[in-house]
Amino acid sequence: MMDLAFDKNHIWHPYSSLINPPPVYPIARAEGVRIYLEDGRGLIDGMSSWWSTLHGYNVPELNAAMQSQMEKMSHVMFGGLTHEPAIELCKKLVALTPEPLRKVFLADSGSVSVEVAIKMALQYWHSQGKPEKSKLLALRNGYHGDTFGAMATCDPVTGMHHLFASQLTQHLFAPAPQPAFDQPCASEDIAELAQLIESNHQQLAAVILEPIVQGAGGMRFYSPDYLRKVRELCDQYDLLLIADEIATGFGRSGKMFACEHAGISPDILTLGKALTGGTMTLAATLCTDRVANGICNGEAGVFMHGPTFMGNPLACAVANASIELLLQRDWQQQVDRIETQLRDELAPLKHADGVADVRVLGAIGVVEMKNPVDNKSLQTSLIERGVWLRPFGKLVYTMPPYVISREDLSQLTSTMVEVLGGPQQ
Ligand SMILES: *Cc1c(COP(=O)(O)O)cnc(C)c1O
Repeated sequence: MMDLAFDKNHIWHPYSSLINPPPVYPIARAEGVRIYLEDGRGLIDGMSSWWSTLHGYNVPELNAAMQSQMEKMSHVMFGGLTHEPAIELCKKLVALTPEPLRKVFLADSGSVSVEVAIKMALQYWHSQGKPEKSKLLALRNGYHGDTFGAMATCDPVTGMHHLFASQLTQHLFAPAPQPAFDQPCASEDIAELAQLIESNHQQLAAVILEPIVQGAGGMRFYSPDYLRKVRELCDQYDLLLIADEIATGFGRSGKMFACEHAGISPDILTLGKALTGGTMTLAATLCTDRVANGICNGEAGVFMHGPTFMGNPLACAVANASIELLLQRDWQQQVDRIETQLRDELAPLKHADGVADVRVLGAIGVVEMKNPVDNKSLQTSLIERGVWLRPFGKLVYTMPPYVISREDLSQLTSTMVEVLGGPQQ
């Protein structure tokens, strides 16, 4: 048996306490859409290990890609050297993303790719002789990562980082987008953001946002029309647009990239989470020729970033295999099927006592409760019923692996309905 006492006393988990921490469950292995507890019980994974596991676990094609790469080289430095897995991956990313995004920086995690995106924007304006353009405009309810640069762009309240407020660069924040996904964006819906840009554009380098789906900062979906209007304002006032698609990339919202809902392209794009199909840590920051040329013609002459494990061949090789699988397996049809089923099967919760809202977009289903849930008891009930979810605050949500069967998804949704639909919540 695993030494859970050691875990409890010595090991940090995400956003955890080492004094009286909540239980962590020992996982021995994972296969398909199930993660298996040490005692052999299988849990249907409704979280895709935080948006990353597209094809399920222990996938032969992904394992094979890692194994064959491992036998050539697991890693080699990227400074002054290059390799096939990285070249192939960057070709794929340039081809898949909107046309103007043609230059790729490989980073080691989502937060790092956001740091890189911010640095690109700042270096770009520096190179244009406008170093005063150094602030960012972000959205309330946004989430962009846990490192200091990224933290400074998260919602100051829901972004989980208010403790550090005095140490963070003070950026500007517009209200969270109000028009829902299927609504148009009236001019008053964007008036405050427009006003902030109009008054501050001389200090603003970029707008940073999660297109269409605000994830960890509230699980909100908003109008593509709003995003189009932000793009127009950025063009009008000469600001860069940074789209953080770390959570939404690779089909999760029903389009390959959420920006496609609005038919827009950002100047800088961050990708992560699902990039390797949930196997290894890897992220990417893409930018346009204009941004790259600006940076490289500037004072430094180079882009000032270079992580030790940049372009890790093992991670690139498995990312290539994951993207190939995604395209082969008709992800669009998989995601559309999940969307329909989530809509149908979570609908009964709309009328439940404790439920404030039920919303679905692509392969994302969200139940927002009226009150914060008791995580510990909720998770115990879910696990007893063979389901893994990780609620936070008032939000109980699922984004299952795309390969989930109709039956497994039904078990997941019926468990949510059973556990959340009762009068006690
Ligand atoms: C998860 C996430 C990040 C941070 O990525 P990490 O790999 O956890 O550092 C940044 N932005 C968004 C939108 C995310 O969902």
